[in-house]
Amino acid sequence: MASHSHREGHQQSHDHEHGHSHAEEDMLSVEEAFQRIMASFSPLEAEEVSLLDCLGQVLAENIRSPLDLPPLSNSAMDGYAVLSADIQGASPESPRNLEVIGLVAAGQGSNQTVVSGAAIRIMTGAPIPAGADAVVPFEETDEVERRQAGRPLDQVAIYSSLPVGVNVRPAGEDVRRGQQVLDAGTPVRPSEIGVMASLGLTSTRVIRRPVVSILATGDELVASGRPLEEGKIFDSNSFSVAGSVVACGGIPRILGIARDNLEDLNNKLTEAAGSDLIVTSAGVSKGDYDIVKDVLTERGDMNFWSVRMRPAKPLAFGHLREDGGRSVPLLGLPGNPVSTMVAFEMFARPAIRIMLGKRILARPMVEGVLTAPIYNADGRRVYARVEVTRKDGMYYANPVGPQGSNILTSMSRANGLAICPDDLPSQGAGEQVQIIMLDWNEEVDV
Ligand code: AMP
Ligand code: MG
Repeated sequence: MASHSHREGHQQSHDHEHGHSHAEEDMLSVEEAFQRIMASFSPLEAEEVSLLDCLGQVLAENIRSPLDLPPLSNSAMDGYAVLSADIQGASPESPRNLEVIGLVAAGQGSNQTVVSGAAIRIMTGAPIPAGADAVVPFEETDEVERRQAGRPLDQVAIYSSLPVGVNVRPAGEDVRRGQQVLDAGTPVRPSEIGVMASLGLTSTRVIRRPVVSILATGDELVASGRPLEEGKIFDSNSFSVAGSVVACGGIPRILGIARDNLEDLNNKLTEAAGSDLIVTSAGVSKGDYDIVKDVLTERGDMNFWSVRMRPAKPLAFGHLREDGGRSVPLLGLPGNPVSTMVAFEMFARPAIRIMLGKRILARPMVEGVLTAPIYNADGRRVYARVEVTRKDGMYYANPVGPQGSNILTSMSRANGLAICPDDLPSQGAGEQVQIIMLDWNEEVDV
């Protein structure tokens, strides 16, 4: 029962290869929908952000080191800085006695020089005194015995024969001055924040986070916290989408609930001005009030698709004109709560990642053994909610129970989506399936 605006939407998609005579032909594969949507996105501009705030963003500049790291050669152990030549052949049976001429702690400079027959007490991280070329750890000296016996500490017996360089961390061992330490395009993890801090930086240029406006539509919706009248349901989509936006690095802007009427919807869409993406939910499936489609069609260049997937078949994508000639991409997700989340996962999340400058768009996938069948009734790729477990080095995909697109708790029980391909009627228990891992870190290209 395609509406007038629904058909118009299709005609606006210029590269549509099929005719409009048959509903099945109007279906897009997940890949086609993905490519058409992603073609509209590119990385956003850079901004200067303090080190503590850039976690998860992507570096927009190459980072070169202004200094050697470590700046000075320093000790890797608490012990005695010595001349290696002085202690050749030393052992517990045949120790070498040295005169202790000083002490150097971390954070101090050292103006003393170690000469033959002498040693300087040195702490981890303290600069190696001139002349010294090895550090003997306390454990390989008579340090403890001497202290316990109350003997003076101006002498030390060395028990081991160490070659030049042992326990000495040379200047520039980690980073040389002028070296490019981090490349533009690198996602910032805690280790990158640490590296930048070690170079003395307090802020860095990263690609800014996209602002994502979120709009729920439907006369039946009530904002949580308000009384629930007969026939109404709480709006969960605004929240699951906002959570998903935060989780993938965007900034959510919740616009609230638009009623299924022209005025309300138009007003709410106007509030999305200035955002980088608008994500709506509901109002795009065939049985709907046509109002969402009508408004979107009127205000922009919109396509209304059926995607060959379950859940989340209906999908709208296009650009909404704003005052001043700017236009904002708009992704219209289906309304059923699981469909909303799965469609976000497949289409909104990668778009947000492109805007963030990420190179890896997809979640990691693993192959696992299905423990109960999943069915594909109508030639659409099935994304079944599964709990993934691991036993004896194998992954298992355990379907979490009823898979209706309204059963939101099934998303909560799942940590993966197991795929039944478009062209297979089912995947049986014991069969190997591909699983999208919803909770895994995607920065690693697996
Ligand atoms: P629709 O696409 O408008 O036909 O909505 C499909 C289903 O999703 C209906 O059962 C709606 O009540 C439900 N739904 C739509 N929006 C939301 C929302 N924001 N939160 C929870 N359920 C919703
Ligand atoms: Mg509705």
